[in-house]
Amino acid sequence: MSSPHSYSPAAPGDQPLGAESVWMNLIQRPAVNATLLGCAVFALCLFGILSRTGGDLAAYWTTNAFLLGMLIRYPHFAHRWGWIAAAAGYFLADALTGASLTKNVLLNVANLAGVAVGYWLFHRTERSMNRLQTTSSVLYMLMAIVGASAVSSLIGAVAMIYLFNDTAIKGFAIWFATELVNYISFLPLLLSIPTRAQFPAQPMRWLSQQITVERVAPAVALLLSAIFGSMVGGPGAVAFTIPALMWCAVSYSLFTTALITFWVSAWSLVSISVNMLTDAQGVLNRDLVMSVRMGLSLVMLTPIMIGSMMATNRALVSRLKLLADHDELTNLPNRRAFLESSTSALQRLKEHSESCSVLMIDIDHFKSVNDRFGHASGDDVLRRLGQLFGECLRRQDIVGRLGGEEFAVFMPRATAADALQVAESIRISLEVTPISVQGEAQPLRCTVSIGLASDRRSTVSLDTMLVRADQCLYKAKQQGRNRVIQVSVSD
Ligand code: GH3
Ligand code: MG
Ligand code: MG
Repeated sequence: MSSPHSYSPAAPGDQPLGAESVWMNLIQRPAVNATLLGCAVFALCLFGILSRTGGDLAAYWTTNAFLLGMLIRYPHFAHRWGWIAAAAGYFLADALTGASLTKNVLLNVANLAGVAVGYWLFHRTERSMNRLQTTSSVLYMLMAIVGASAVSSLIGAVAMIYLFNDTAIKGFAIWFATELVNYISFLPLLLSIPTRAQFPAQPMRWLSQQITVERVAPAVALLLSAIFGSMVGGPGAVAFTIPALMWCAVSYSLFTTALITFWVSAWSLVSISVNMLTDAQGVLNRDLVMSVRMGLSLVMLTPIMIGSMMATNRALVSRLKLLADHDELTNLPNRRAFLESSTSALQRLKEHSESCSVLMIDIDHFKSVNDRFGHASGDDVLRRLGQLFGECLRRQDIVGRLGGEEFAVFMPRATAADALQVAESIRISLEVTPISVQGEAQPLRCTVSIGLASDRRSTVSLDTMLVRADQCLYKAKQQGRNRVIQVSVSD
C-alpha cells in the first residue's frame, strides 16, 4: 500500500473491472437477481430441513435471516419479483421434502411475515444502521429482530399447535427463541460484509500480514475454549467461549467478529440440540431448547455489540487522523504529517544508501495576487497548485503544505535529474494554467519558484535537505523568480 501522504493519481480499485462490471450489470436485472435469491432461499431451506432432529423444527434455520439481510444490504433484491422468488424457494423446499400443503403454508407464511416485518422495521432506521456502522445500530437491529421474530411466532404458534400439539404459549416461545437466535447469529454477518472499498486491494498480502502471534492469539483462545466447553459439557458450555469472543471482537474487524460469532453459535446450537437437550429416551426437551436458544442469542449479542463499537471507534479515529494530518484548503498533508512521512521514508533510504531529493516551492508575488484579485482568488490558486501536484508528482512522492503559499516535496529514489524534471513540470504547468477570477475578463496567471536539493546516497538529515532546498529557493527569488535552482548536498 502506498504511504497515506503520497500521491496516487487513480486508486486501482476505483474503476470496476470489465468482467466484474458485466457481472454487476447482470445481477442488477430483476429477473436475474430474483432467480438467484429464490435459488439461495431454496438451498438454505433444504439445509435447514435436513438439520431437523426427530421431526421437529430445524436446529439451524438461517433462511429468514439470510433473506432479511440480503434485502436490507443489497436493496436491488427488494422488488416484487425478489419477494415472489423467495416465497417460491420456501414453498418448493418444503413441498419437495414431503411436507403437507397445510404445514407448508403455515410454516412459510410465518417465515415470510417475519422477514417482511423485519424489513419494514429496518427501513424505519437510518441507512448507517443497515451496516451496523453506529454504536446504537446493534440495539436497533435487535429491535427489528424482536419485531420480526414476534410476528413470525404469532403465526408460527398456530403451526405449532396444529403440527406438534403444543400449547399456544409454548409454541410461540419456542418459535420466538429459534427466530431470535438465528437472526442474531446470521444477520450481523450479512450486514457487515465489507464493501468493495473496504476489501483489501491485495488479499494474499493482507492474509500474510495476519499471520502474527498478536493476530492469531484470539482465534486460538476461542478454539481452545470451545474445545474445553465441549469437554466439560452441559448448558453452561455455551458461555465458555465468551471471554475469547470478546477478545476477538476488540482485535478483529466487525465482519470477522460476526463470522466467528456465527460459527460459535452454529456450533453451539447444533451440538447442544444433538447432545445435551434430549432425555434418556432421546426425546428433545422443548423447554430446555427454548431456554438455550434464547440465552445463546442474547449472549452472542455481546461480541457483536463490542465489534460494532470498535468499528465505530476505528472509523472515528481514522477520520480524525485524516483531519489532523491534512490541510483543509488544498487537501494536502500539513507540515507535521509531511515531516513525519518524509522522515520515515528518508530513514528507509539511508539503510540502503539510496538517492533522494527535496523541493521547496513558493508562489511568486502571492501577496499581490491577494491584493489585486481578492483572498478567495488566492485560495483558488492554492487549490489549483494542490491539484497540479497530483498531476506532476510520482506515486511515491510525499508532498505537504508547510504553511501559507509554501509547499515541500520529498522524492524518494529521485536523482537530481529526475527531480529537476518534476520541478520543471510543476513550474511550467502552473505558469500555463489560466485561473479564472469572478468579475475579471482576463484569467489570472501565477508562477512558482523552486529550490531543489538532491542527495545521491541519503547521507544528511531531512532538516539539512530542507535548509539547502530553501537556500536554493531564496536564490531563485533573487534571480528573478519563476525558475528552479538546484544543489547537490553530497558533493
Ligand atoms: P515572494 O514572491 O517573494 O514569495 O512574494 P509573496 O508575495 O508571495 O510573499 P509574501 O511572504 O510577502 O506573501 C505571502 C502571502 O501569502 C501573504 C499572505 O496573505 C498569503 N497567504 C498565506 N496563506 C494564504 C491562504 O491560505 N490564502 C490566501 N489567499 N493567501 C494566503
Ligand atoms: Mg513565502
Ligand atoms: Mg511567495
